[in-house]
Amino acid sequence: MPELSAELDLGPEVAQFRAELREWIAAEAPEALSGLADWNMPLTAGGRRGAELIKAQADPAYAAWEAKLAENRLICPHWPEEFGGQGMDAVRIAVLNEEFYRAGVPRVARGMGEWLVGPSIIVHGTQEQKAHFLPRIISGEDSYCQGFSEPDHGSDLAAVETRGVVDGDEIVISGQKVWTSGASRANMMFLLCRTDPDVDKHAGLSYVLIDFTGPGVQYRPIKQMSGAAEFFEDFLDGVRAPLFNVIGGLNNGWKVAMTTLGHERGGRATVAHLGYEREFWDLVETARKRGKTTDPLIRQRLAWAYTQVELMRFSGLRTLAQVAAGKPPGPEASVAKLFWSEYHKLLGEIAIGIEGTDGLLRPDGDDYPVSNWQSVFLSSRAGTIYSGTSEIQRNIIGERALGLPKEPRAKEPRRS
Ligand SMILES: Cc1cc2nc3c(=O)[nH]c(=O)nc-3n(C[C@H](O)[C@H](O)[C@H](O)COP(=O)(O)OP(=O)(O)OC[C@H]3O[C@@H](n4cnc5c(N)ncnc54)[C@H](O)[C@@H]3O)c2cc1C
Repeated sequence: MPELSAELDLGPEVAQFRAELREWIAAEAPEALSGLADWNMPLTAGGRRGAELIKAQADPAYAAWEAKLAENRLICPHWPEEFGGQGMDAVRIAVLNEEFYRAGVPRVARGMGEWLVGPSIIVHGTQEQKAHFLPRIISGEDSYCQGFSEPDHGSDLAAVETRGVVDGDEIVISGQKVWTSGASRANMMFLLCRTDPDVDKHAGLSYVLIDFTGPGVQYRPIKQMSGAAEFFEDFLDGVRAPLFNVIGGLNNGWKVAMTTLGHERGGRATVAHLGYEREFWDLVETARKRGKTTDPLIRQRLAWAYTQVELMRFSGLRTLAQVAAGKPPGPEASVAKLFWSEYHKLLGEIAIGIEGTDGLLRPDGDDYPVSNWQSVFLSSRAGTIYSGTSEIQRNIIGERALGLPKEPRAKEPRRS
């Protein structure tokens, strides 16, 4: 695989930051973890890479590396200093991500805690909430799953029906959530519930953090067509949380949820394509091994895939340049999401084409329910659904980038 290329010239200060960080990683990163960078691919990319990382997390060297990163404030480094981060700007975060990737060592990210709920607490939480919840995310003590979607409410998130009823200094939550990624690994859930059913649907919601291991919580896995079960449905029956755990105040949950969903991800812009780049070269290798690289049709398809990965890279560089110039990304996030998810679906089809008839058979004696490429083929379908479906992304692009008329929206207050 070619070396990571096309570094932007981001000025002498950032260059010095890069050089020092590179030196630090070379001196400190444990040998046992090399080659185990987080691949920046969504969970549902499935297959070998994700499994390698999960295995590495059980290695004592991982815990030692995690402790070293924490000591040097390199976990959630973009968070403000007072909450355990370094207040790193998006450009430095991008450089940091690139350098960890280049060195091939895990960056030790805190998933939804780091990128979704933490930043929402930083924006909307009280000082006491920040002081309580944020350090627990950095230390890994609290690991969050996202309880937004419900069986009848996914894209139309504002219509959630899970009820939250205030009882003294507690809130009591009952309802059902679905498609919760990684629920079995989480001890906390951030959720949206309806605390006032008599007002406009956006106005009666609250954003609550609940103990996901406590009484009243039950969840069960949803078996995917790949055979894996990474997503769950959850049943909340009178789950109690202190009012302290309501972020942003009662009935103000929509605003907080919008911060969660719209959190600026400029810092990941230039690394978002790296997992796909790695995967692309794996596929070229598969094609070589199967003697398919002289097949003109396969060559055409691989060349197409390569151009898509390059487009992701250039688009990431453009976003980073924009962030460096002080302009936060807008509908570009939707363009990027639409692009990688639709690309990945087609890449899965190319991969199965390369595997040929083997792609139709379940492998014997493997640790996985399906082969790596079968997993990519099957699970990439979900990429065009979660984090906003392709249709929703196109709506956002139409309205916010192209200035097309907005979709008609229902106006009646919701009563459930
Ligand atoms: C693998 C996976 C992981 C997920 N992880 C989580 C998670 O951790 N936490 C969580 O809360 N949720 C999660 N989700 C849920 C995800 O956010 C929803 O599935 C998604 O928002 C779509 O909602 P829905 O499934 O209810 O489909 P619907 O909203 O019912 O959509 C059905 C179809 O109608 C289309 N459609 C809907 N509205 C419009 C519109 N206005 N204009 C045009 N077309 C429209 C959609 O594009 C889709 O094709 C996950 C989903 C998947 C598949």
